[in-house]
Amino acid sequence: MNNSEKMEKYRKKRDFTKTPEPSGEIKSGGKNLIFLIHKHNASHLHYDLRLELNGVLKSWAIPKEPSLNPDEKHLAIMVEDHPIEYANFEGVIPESNYGAGIVMIWDKGVYVPVSDGIKEEQEKILNQELEKGHLSIIFDGKKLKGEFALVKLRRSREQNAWLLIKAKDQYAKYTDILKEDKRAKSVKKEKAK
Ligand code: MN
Repeated sequence: MNNSEKMEKYRKKRDFTKTPEPSGEIKSGGKNLIFLIHKHNASHLHYDLRLELNGVLKSWAIPKEPSLNPDEKHLAIMVEDHPIEYANFEGVIPESNYGAGIVMIWDKGVYVPVSDGIKEEQEKILNQELEKGHLSIIFDGKKLKGEFALVKLRRSREQNAWLLIKAKDQYAKYTDILKEDKRAKSVKKEKAK
């Protein structure tokens, strides 16, 4: 599958004369694999997890705000791949367009599989894990840090249902520290460490 085929599902849903979203020109990513979470205030407020892999952003819609609490399991519905440039997208998708509403970058950073290596090795491992339906990944975001599992639900009627679960490590928090940040500003402009 070439990159323009990869973006077909994404493009079909959108009219780029009407939405400010990127049309999906393929750009190669940087040295590290990036992840981000969009807060998407559409007809239902939800969060979109995006993981850079194979030159696109693998994407999951998460109905409830992500957290660092290992006791919470967050349903994550796999959706169509998004273009890499979507990692910088924030704005308003106009009414009557697909996903109409406000899109804000809620968290952003780099991520790696639990078994580390150079980017090519990381992608190889992640592709195998994606195939198996069980990703073990480490986020280094502004909000989300440490190890998470993203696990495909086998017995679900919903084909694309996964769970996002925080692993028990030094970043685990059993109180809702993220929810205390009521201002929930975009992290887009924050400098990388
Ligand atoms: Mn969304």
